[in-house]
Amino acid sequence: MSIYMDYNASAPIDQRVLKHMIDVYQNSYGNADSRTHNYGEAARAVVESARSKIAKLAGCNANELFFTSGATESNNLVFQGLVDYAKDKGKKHIIVSMIEHKAILETVRHMETLGFEVDYVAPQANGRILEDDIYRLIRDDTLIVSIMHVNNETGVIQPVETIGETLSNLDLFFHVDATQSFGKLIDEVRNIKYDFLSISAHKLSGPQGVGGLIIKRKNYKLPQIKPILFGGPQEHGIRPGTLPVALIAGFGKACEIAENDHSDVEEHCLNIKSGLLKLLEDSGLEYEINGSPEFSIFNTLNIRFTGISSEALMIACKDCCGISNGSACTSNDYTPSYVLRAMGIPDEHIMESVRISWGPEQDSKEVLTEFGNLLDVAKMIR
Ligand code: PMP
Repeated sequence: MSIYMDYNASAPIDQRVLKHMIDVYQNSYGNADSRTHNYGEAARAVVESARSKIAKLAGCNANELFFTSGATESNNLVFQGLVDYAKDKGKKHIIVSMIEHKAILETVRHMETLGFEVDYVAPQANGRILEDDIYRLIRDDTLIVSIMHVNNETGVIQPVETIGETLSNLDLFFHVDATQSFGKLIDEVRNIKYDFLSISAHKLSGPQGVGGLIIKRKNYKLPQIKPILFGGPQEHGIRPGTLPVALIAGFGKACEIAENDHSDVEEHCLNIKSGLLKLLEDSGLEYEINGSPEFSIFNTLNIRFTGISSEALMIACKDCCGISNGSACTSNDYTPSYVLRAMGIPDEHIMESVRISWGPEQDSKEVLTEFGNLLDVAKMIR
């Protein structure tokens, strides 16, 4: 039986989440913005209950969370929503890292066509961004700095707590793409001093197609983010469109579960990680771990198998492990990973690198058995 090891692309939905969503689909099918009947009120109650759970996990106020279709939209909303504000204030400079997700990189590329100037900060060889490399780029007209919390390809945790602390005294915004850390690094996310935080349900065993943007209030006031879609007054006019009640309910349930199960999940995933590393060590294969092991999230490994093409390995091991060689958003693209390239890894090594990621409800014995099978396949094709 093949085992799924691509949780960073999308985690399977938790059965408790699914059950809750089915109940909502069956019983709370009204439009949460209908004011004229109980069906609307019932749907609104479901939405607000979920909003509170998600906000609790994030450590923000419920009125700072705005629902979107996922982190891609949240990232777009931050940058594009600030265009008018930036023009007003004469700010046209943006700082991001080179290893951000495409949902940031493509958005800021679009911003460049609008006249914004973007600086792209390279990571160190271990995949971490050096704080000083950001600070030295800051200008009077810097509008926003955006750094992801955990990289989706390497699992490397970025120093966003320190960066947020430093930037909090300056006249600019700090955005964190926390898609891969939300619900996993709970205390760390709560401790970041950010203005905007992007989150997504399907990376924490919730449904695909729903996410959120947290917009922190300053002196009770929201920063001037303008909507990028036009329509109804939902989500205070920041994000119009009928709220997907069941998806939002599922997101809320996933957050409640993450909050309750967190320590067990972390321990479980760490056990799997040490089991995988032990199997690698004992395999006799030549390999390297891409990205800092010290600053790595508990559910991800990016491994280079020396002399073995990642494409060949992924195909040959399809019957035991579903793995990837990078972000699903770029998996139709055969060019070497831009994340690993930015870390200075040569293309030949990148072509031998795979990403594996795992999650809460997996049976660790099964994971380790199938990973052992993957290593046997690797030995055969090397
Ligand atoms: N940012 C990061 C770091 C991600 O890993 C992903 C998902 N691959 C996204 C943004 C996009 O999230 P979504 O699928 O919710 O649009």
